[in-house]
Amino acid sequence: MSGPHCSNLDLDTLRAKFYQLHIAVEQSPAATAITDTEGRIEYVNQRFLEVTGYSREELIGKTPAMIQSGTTPEAVYRDLWQTLRSGQVWRGELQNRKKNGEFYWEAEIITPVRDDTGEVVRFVAVKEDITERKRQEEELRLLASVFQTGQAPLITDSEMRIERVNQAFTDITGYLPEEVIGHTPRLFKSGRHDQAFYTQLWRDVLETGHWQGEIWNRNKYGEIYPLWQSITAVSDETGKVRHYIGVFHNIAERKRLEEELEQQATRDHLTGAHNRRAFDTTMRKAIRQAERSDNTFSLLLFDIDLFKSINDQHGHDTGDSILKRLATLVSQALRSTDMLARWGGEEFAILLQDTTIQGASIFAERLRQQVAETRLHGLNVTISLGIAEYRRGDGPEAMLARADNALYRAKRAGRNRVGIAGAHA
Ligand code: GH3
Ligand code: MG
Ligand code: MG
Repeated sequence: MSGPHCSNLDLDTLRAKFYQLHIAVEQSPAATAITDTEGRIEYVNQRFLEVTGYSREELIGKTPAMIQSGTTPEAVYRDLWQTLRSGQVWRGELQNRKKNGEFYWEAEIITPVRDDTGEVVRFVAVKEDITERKRQEEELRLLASVFQTGQAPLITDSEMRIERVNQAFTDITGYLPEEVIGHTPRLFKSGRHDQAFYTQLWRDVLETGHWQGEIWNRNKYGEIYPLWQSITAVSDETGKVRHYIGVFHNIAERKRLEEELEQQATRDHLTGAHNRRAFDTTMRKAIRQAERSDNTFSLLLFDIDLFKSINDQHGHDTGDSILKRLATLVSQALRSTDMLARWGGEEFAILLQDTTIQGASIFAERLRQQVAETRLHGLNVTISLGIAEYRRGDGPEAMLARADNALYRAKRAGRNRVGIAGAHA
């Protein structure tokens, strides 16, 4: 600048111009960096320092690798350098890292600067912080992806009027968007839950902003089905609820599988009666309860009379069919608290809750008669029964032994009768 062509006046003008430019760049809200052609930093403005948290001394002479986050794909940098080397302006978005480790997003414009001869001598990078925009974009993407999953979201306004639903919603509920928008989710009430359920649900939403759980709804066709549903209140800056977002998926299939597994684990395959293991669990529970209270219960064992000859005369399949029909007949005679199990072969056990030996013998006698009077698979079948009541100190084996003894005596006495375990048993 002090060459022979520059007068003092020119120099002053240049200085003034330079100063103007300097403060303009220095105070610019856009972070600005100037590097040499190798990318070494020669200048950074005040905003750049604020954004990155580094001091000028820490940055000058270094390359922007210092603020790279490691999350930007290599291809982006390749494109950047290719563009700059070919003398063109590069525009792009980069995720960088501040001195304190925090990530942030920048939209950058990097311009190659040429000298009088047209040779690229510097690069000027001007960056705008777009972290907030990126965050919002990410949120929108997330929301959009929720709308594309098998999850059915439902967005309502603060008065719970439905504003938006998706395809999964229609798949699950049968309702088209235009049939529900503007309505409240009361439309889906199944009648399966009492008022206390909904009161608790809304109390949770209002107090904690969230609720989730199993809920039974009614679809457009009147069918009732179970859902796993979460409800979230979305508030504005002032804390006022603006929307509710409900997300649910159908769990009918999961529940069916659970029931099937439960069924397999606790039921007898042929008759559908409980298996021995399930019966044993229930009996131990009944004993514990009886020990702790004045409650009592009775045990009933029964065995089909001369079943071997039925098999021999009519075949094993007929025998099987009789076993099934007998189990159905007996379970229909039970109260919901009682339990029928297939004890083995053609022998069954019944646990009669809250039942004394007197009650058990009335029940047993009625059952004996009912079986004898009902043709099963077109055949007359009779059973012999043995009953025993819980006694203090009984374990399952002791009770079973008494009932089995009573059954044995019924067989010995001529079958088709009830044996009662009494004092002599
Ligand atoms: P009673 O009990 O009156 O003394 O005579 P019973 O002929 O019933 O006695 P037993 O215990 O000797 O015979 C039971 C028969 O039950 C033997 C077996 O073939 C038959 N049985 C056991 N389990 C099954 C089954 O799952 N299906 C069929 N069809 N028969 C079975
Ligand atoms: Mg038997
Ligand atoms: Mg038998």
